[in-house]
Amino acid sequence: MLDWNESIIRRYGGPGPRYTSYPTAPNFRDSISANDIAAAIDAGNANRRPLSLYTHVPFCDTVCFYCACNRIITANKARGAAYLDDLEREISLRAEGIDPARTVEQLHFGGGTPTFFDDSQLARVMGSLGRHFSLRTDDGGDYAIEIDPRTVDRERLMTIRGLGFNRVSLGVQDLNPLVQKAVNRVQPFEMIRDTVAWSREAGFHSINVDLICGLPLQSESTLMHSLDRLLPLRPDRISMYSYAHLPGRFKVQRQIDESTLPSPAEKVRMISRAGTLLQDSGYRFIGMDHFALEDDAMAQAQRSGQLHRNFQGYTLHGDTDLVGFGVSAISDLGRLYLQNEKRVEPWKALLDAGRLPISRGYRLDPDDEVRRDVIMRLLCDLELDTGAVETRWNIAFDDYFREALEAWRRFSDEGLTECGPGRLSITDQGRLVSRALVQAFDAHVGATRQEQFSRVL
Ligand code: SF4
Repeated sequence: MLDWNESIIRRYGGPGPRYTSYPTAPNFRDSISANDIAAAIDAGNANRRPLSLYTHVPFCDTVCFYCACNRIITANKARGAAYLDDLEREISLRAEGIDPARTVEQLHFGGGTPTFFDDSQLARVMGSLGRHFSLRTDDGGDYAIEIDPRTVDRERLMTIRGLGFNRVSLGVQDLNPLVQKAVNRVQPFEMIRDTVAWSREAGFHSINVDLICGLPLQSESTLMHSLDRLLPLRPDRISMYSYAHLPGRFKVQRQIDESTLPSPAEKVRMISRAGTLLQDSGYRFIGMDHFALEDDAMAQAQRSGQLHRNFQGYTLHGDTDLVGFGVSAISDLGRLYLQNEKRVEPWKALLDAGRLPISRGYRLDPDDEVRRDVIMRLLCDLELDTGAVETRWNIAFDDYFREALEAWRRFSDEGLTECGPGRLSITDQGRLVSRALVQAFDAHVGATRQEQFSRVL
């Protein structure tokens, strides 16, 4: 059982990368040529690597005051219709050259609010993806959609399930009415309870609930009360993010009265108590912000060393190429990262010109590949066979990572890591701050502005 140690959280809980990629997105800068992309696609085709598809729907009806996402607030549904036309063009363009026999093991609709699209629009996107890619028809992939509970009812969830989605992620954040009002996201407990029940009835395999710690008017007791109400619903997975108040960067956060935010000390206590309660209630702490019921596939994957990490977070599907559609979407094709234009107009202008709407990217060099392997394995498995890394990459581990190992020995003295011969591991205590620990293996993080990152805890 993890000890949610407040002094460790205080010491190592500062800003740090979430490592949904390595290097992380702030390092993307290269202009990527058509030849680079074609070579990356060919490499995936050569071994029929499965696919993971991500679709970004940037629209939301109303704004949440804590929001730090790439989104467009509008009630004008015509904007969604126009975006959909362009999205279909992008899907068709991106599919060029990709072997249609490659199976789509993972699919994710995120935003914004994907359910800003009505049912027929969602069906159109799925139809378009199905025409260009081999979607699984046996319900065996992980096909997820982010759901704003305010936008669905029982019938809608049935329809969404019928489109082929089998996982839902519900944006809950907090159940306290005053907190909800302070962040402009009012969704009564009954709405959440019903959405979870309808999702089960519709046959979704897994229900994830997103929560945020550190919101205005939140306190230890309100958060515990929210969890006491939520946990009997038994969501399969819970993500508990730490709110980063950066009103200089995200203007909408200026709507939040700073005097109502919990103090850093209070936030640490909240995280610590919430983490303890979740564990006591049968949830495994996967790492970073994620918890899963012990019998959930994610918890099982971690126990058996099958967990991976990509732009969709922790995933069971590691050996996939990720293809992203829509504004700001990121693709991950082996040694190549590509990010789309973040704003609709330039994204659309490139599509109008018959070009992929890419604004920047990154080509991994051999050193990046070694470091990516080490960081991802440590974050997912919490241990590393350094001999296997030497064999995979033809390096002498102790020489290659001399400085990182010095840092890890210091972490060992604090009980956060163990550095044995041929093996590194993150202890239970260290798991709380794993992304701070793996920064020792990151050759880029020192050059990246820290305000680009969220807090570790
Ligand atoms: S629903 Fe999500 S993306 Fe939209 S405003 Fe709220 S937090 Fe931002």
